[in-house]
Amino acid sequence: MTTTAEHPGQIWDAALGQLQLHVTRPNFETWLKNTIGVAYRDGEFVVGAPNAFVAEMLEQRMYSLISRTLESVVKSEVEIRFQVTTTEGESPALHSTGADPAGTEEAPIPQVAAQPSIHRPAPLNPRYVFERFVVGKSNELAHAAATAVSGRPGELYNPLVLYSDVGLGKTHLMHAIGHRAISLGMSLIYSTTEEFTNSYIKAIREGTTDDFRERYRSADLLLLDDVQFLIGKEQTQEGFFHTFNALHMTNRQIVLTSDRPVSALTLLEDRIQSRLAGGLVVDIQPPDVETRIAILRAKAEEMRQDVPDAVLQLLAERIHKNIRELEGSLNKVVALADLTGAPVSIELTRQAVADVVETAAERKIPEGAIVEAVSEHFGVSVEAIKGRKRDKRTAQARQVTMYLLREESQLGLSTIGKMLGGKDHTTVSHGCDRIANQLNVDAQLRRHLINIREALAAY
Ligand code: ADP
Ligand code: MG
Repeated sequence: MTTTAEHPGQIWDAALGQLQLHVTRPNFETWLKNTIGVAYRDGEFVVGAPNAFVAEMLEQRMYSLISRTLESVVKSEVEIRFQVTTTEGESPALHSTGADPAGTEEAPIPQVAAQPSIHRPAPLNPRYVFERFVVGKSNELAHAAATAVSGRPGELYNPLVLYSDVGLGKTHLMHAIGHRAISLGMSLIYSTTEEFTNSYIKAIREGTTDDFRERYRSADLLLLDDVQFLIGKEQTQEGFFHTFNALHMTNRQIVLTSDRPVSALTLLEDRIQSRLAGGLVVDIQPPDVETRIAILRAKAEEMRQDVPDAVLQLLAERIHKNIRELEGSLNKVVALADLTGAPVSIELTRQAVADVVETAAERKIPEGAIVEAVSEHFGVSVEAIKGRKRDKRTAQARQVTMYLLREESQLGLSTIGKMLGGKDHTTVSHGCDRIANQLNVDAQLRRHLINIREALAAY
């Protein structure tokens, strides 16, 4: 066997690029993203994982996918060895979360941070920085509070509690505070509440709660993500309260996130509640459509993908509750384009995200309402749409009706034809294709469709 010891890093990056297309994004983020190519010698490829848990999961659950992928990159057989590549020898006390790395379900947030330590760089997501956080009306207060606190930790709002539904940027902002604080030379502990709970319980079991507290108390900032997990965990609340108090009394900054309003954390002990309420609680609302478009545009740039405005608009219009889902949809579109070699277009987008793009039929909007909405919008009567007149405006209104009916209703082409005054299915098919093609190049037509769809959304 020949030796190809040159570039394990490059080989692995190429493999990662392919793996990204074969696993869900959360799975990629959780298990693969932080791995590196360490060595490639004599048919053995060494993959570096951030901790033993990830290494184990990759080995057990993704070995065959990874080996197939690697083999297709290097064009020969490879043995794979997973190796933990942390700087310190300690083995992180990680707990299986029961996630299935090869599955299609949303995997949990990476558990890399299981052992908070101020000696090691905090395992913050490198993408979650202020520079990559798009500010809009829905999140500007939270953003302002986060930037303020990161510049002057412990001095302004303590604790700062970020609160919102899932997927709206709490963790992103929290990590951004962490990055900024680190860049200012401060020490911090970032931990998910689950991890906090796990290490506290472990400390109790091993009789090392003093060490536990000391470790937390030695940081300038404590970032604790998802405190709603403290609900119903009395022992941990106790530990949290003491840690919290110690930090608070010495003006260390505490940042918490929760997906429930603080007042709704009714099971949290009163003393924790009143402490939380004593700081600043800011909520993040779902972003408006402009912010959603801006977020998608930023993502597309980040991925160095040229995504037409029409596509950004379509995604932003249809996915409004959750930014993670919004990003996921863009990833899907781009992945499908890569896979098929087709350009990113409206049609491709509809294919890629058919599952999240709810049609009018699914929303039980009658077909007649679609025809009326088009008629209203273009100022062309329903009779004219169904008739034979062929002036430009009428023809366009008719074709848009065909297109929308095809996209939004469950009617077949012939039924649509009948409904529109007895056209045959090839005429309908032609009309739909024409609009679909034009949509990729004609901004005005896109605006027409957006307005009509908005009218239908209000139906
Ligand atoms: P939460 O913690 O509230 O569930 P996250 O912080 O994990 O949400 O955000 C979900 C995803 O959306 C992340 O990938 C994050 O980077 C992204 N995101 C959220 N808000 C914004 C924003 N304002 N600008 C850019 N990306 C955002
Ligand atoms: Mg979060």
